[in-house]
Amino acid sequence: MEKYVPDIYQKDIYNIKYKNLASRGIKLLIFDLDNTIALINEWSPSEEAIKLFKKLNKSFEVIIASNSVKQRVKNFADTLGIKYLSHVKKPKGLPIEEYINNSKYNQSEIAMIGDSMMDDIVCGNRLGITTILIDQLGKREYPLAYLRRRKERKIQKRLRDNNLFTKGRYYV
Ligand SMILES: [Mg+2]
Repeated sequence: MEKYVPDIYQKDIYNIKYKNLASRGIKLLIFDLDNTIALINEWSPSEEAIKLFKKLNKSFEVIIASNSVKQRVKNFADTLGIKYLSHVKKPKGLPIEEYINNSKYNQSEIAMIGDSMMDDIVCGNRLGITTILIDQLGKREYPLAYLRRRKERKIQKRLRDNNLFTKGRYYV
């Protein structure tokens, strides 16, 4: 069950304490896209997101790693001025693992941020990096993500029963 539990849990990407991450030695932030940065029916980042990433780019290396298609991910990454990996197939996420192995950072310097326990958190925990869960931005999901969300709810019930994680109880 521990593989589902994030190191940090916040409401959204705007509530994450990035200064704390920097002082913990985090240098590379790997963001999920759908329902983390944007709704699935949005095709460009919000003003709020642009502002946040402008700030983050000054203190961290920032990339988007998404299961979504290249054209969609590229569109966001280009506007935000960051690199991206598409089709990463989280939770396996081989392209992410390769990116990390080819980077100058070790595991303790990297954080994964996303809205899916089953995909983002399991992937980050498997890679041995810091994992940050946020609540999903919107209710709408792609069909596959929807099915995984149903499974996630069952897992979250078990986690709650075992006092490992409770939705809405944020922690840093
Ligand atoms: Mg997502």
